[in-house]
Amino acid sequence: MTEAERQAALDDIGAEVATCTRCRLHQTRTKAVPGEGTAATEVMFVGEGPGFNEDRQGRPFVGQAGAKLDALLAAVLWTRKEVFITNVVKCRPPENRDPEPDEIAACGPFLERQLAALDPALVVTLGRFSMARFNPGARIGQVHGTYRQADPQSGAPEALTFAMYHPAAALHQASLNEALFRDMLGVPAALLEARKMRASRSPGASGSDAIHDPQQPPPAPAAPDSAAAAEPMSGARESTGADADSGPTDQLGLF
Ligand code: URA
Repeated sequence: MTEAERQAALDDIGAEVATCTRCRLHQTRTKAVPGEGTAATEVMFVGEGPGFNEDRQGRPFVGQAGAKLDALLAAVLWTRKEVFITNVVKCRPPENRDPEPDEIAACGPFLERQLAALDPALVVTLGRFSMARFNPGARIGQVHGTYRQADPQSGAPEALTFAMYHPAAALHQASLNEALFRDMLGVPAALLEARKMRASRSPGASGSDAIHDPQQPPPAPAAPDSAAAAEPMSGARESTGADADSGPTDQLGLF
């Protein structure tokens, strides 16, 4: 798929989300929040569901949690324009309650179609509802800051997922705030691993699958300089996986 085709597919999904009535959340929403970002990215951030400000504006992560997410991205010299940000449910649960299983299920096809359109190398899950969608059974206290292969049922069989606490959780708890920033420094390295995995799986490639053993400690945090090297847009989306591995990072000899 070309970048224009990816964008067109994302726009179509967004238009459908805007008028969706598949679950009860449409009755109380102001605006649905399909997600936003660039179709050129290799990295998708998936949160839980819109809050008050997101519901008003129809955009993801624009309130306090959004400011935290922006700061996390800035810590690795990324911006929200270079990634795609969405949620497990696209409409605000009243009073910011947890989304119900049937609401998550009703919204699931939209997230699956976004994943199919973007085909991200790396999905960063924000919070336990998002993590459960990609790695059922995982416990966030154990797996935050680590990456693993996405459950094939998630709609992202070719992606690695990187688990993080929800940015909102860090707003009132300093220890989680520290964990969030520490974990974020591991995201660029996870992207490099995801690229390696996809390159090794591309037709004609040899080599083993580069899957992180969850029993092992998380990858070493990337230094800010190498984080900048692992840009979330390789510029090689239309090329083969092998080409996608020859980005600026390899020129720096990091891998
Ligand atoms: N929390 C989320 O999970 N998503 C948003 O878009 C905003 C806050």
